Amino acid sequence: MRIIFIVIVFILTSCQSYKKLHEKAIVVDTHNDVLSTVPMRGLNWETDLRGKAHSDIQRFKQGGVDIQIFSIWCDGRKENAYQYANIEIDSLYAMINRNPDKLMLVKTPAELKAAVQQKKLGCMIGVEGGHMLEDRLDYLDSFYNRGSRYLTLTHNVSTSWASSAMDETRTPDPDGETKNITPGLNDFGKQVVRRMNELGMMVDVSHVGDKTFWDVIDVSTKPVIASHSCAYTLCPVFRNLKDDQIKAIAKIGGVIFLNFFSGFVDSNYLTRIQDFNKKHKTERDSLRNLKWSSYEIDEWMSKTYSAEAEVLRPHMNQLLDHLDYIVKLSSADHVGLGSDFDGVSSTPRPLDDVSTFPLITKALLERGYSKKDIRKILGENFIRVFNANMN
Ligand SMILES: [Zn+2]
Repeated sequence: MRIIFIVIVFILTSCQSYKKLHEKAIVVDTHNDVLSTVPMRGLNWETDLRGKAHSDIQRFKQGGVDIQIFSIWCDGRKENAYQYANIEIDSLYAMINRNPDKLMLVKTPAELKAAVQQKKLGCMIGVEGGHMLEDRLDYLDSFYNRGSRYLTLTHNVSTSWASSAMDETRTPDPDGETKNITPGLNDFGKQVVRRMNELGMMVDVSHVGDKTFWDVIDVSTKPVIASHSCAYTLCPVFRNLKDDQIKAIAKIGGVIFLNFFSGFVDSNYLTRIQDFNKKHKTERDSLRNLKWSSYEIDEWMSKTYSAEAEVLRPHMNQLLDHLDYIVKLSSADHVGLGSDFDGVSSTPRPLDDVSTFPLITKALLERGYSKKDIRKILGENFIRVFNANMN
């Protein structure tokens, strides 16, 4: 009887301690695509979108998220990409204006602190893809002035000045195209990186090719980030980071924020999903004929066949193996969270949406991480790299 009592007390205290730790810690997620994917489907993330999207205002709160970097994104082939990006930024401004008691724009470390103190979701901006600059350096300044604090140099499509991981590895893109590209950063690309360093905009290497990556390491005078990437050794897909890249980011004080996409976490997921897609090929083909994007098709499939899709998902433990791996290669100072919620069709169980971040804190405690290291991973590493870029 006494033993049962002790066990119950132990479970209750450890349960409270992870919740308390999570609540007190500053939780930062460096990549969420709700701005670019959810309004497109006619949905509004001010409302309860459970079952329809990964994110909404209420669930950010439940997940204890203090700072969210919203990704500004459009497809690399979109015309007037700069204008489109600005419309997305406008939509975030509008959301903040309508919810001044819940949201605030964060452009500086001081504003970040104020958002945390006022218990509002600090909304930051990251532009995902250099194609939105349309080869103009003044557009980079304009993005900065509007609040963007990182630029992912490329998305899957290379720009005229930086090659992407997808193009460098010659992996056909989702629509089956391959391109002839010059790998790396050209002179204009180097100017972009230098200007970002001057402005205090973080250089994001998620999505860039190896050659571009090493050019960035040569040119950048500030610590760089990978806003949503995992470890190649554990899951060898085209845009995960190799060991020497992880070490190079750590050496200059940068941070790798882990992507939750099942396919970047678990290489067997890709085999399982390929089998699943083969089985549903006819439907996929007809949706493609209707000009649906690969992302929309994947998302539709995982919703329509939710029971089948559920068993394809890896467990969160595999995501945390990437975290352990990066910590072993460097230290707990160089890893954080960049979920990619609402930008991916599948995430590890049970990380179903933005309300589930506390489960990561619980699992890190169970893995033996100190509270100090957990606070770094959840947000302090981001704050350090943000400060270092702004100074
Ligand atoms: Zn991405």
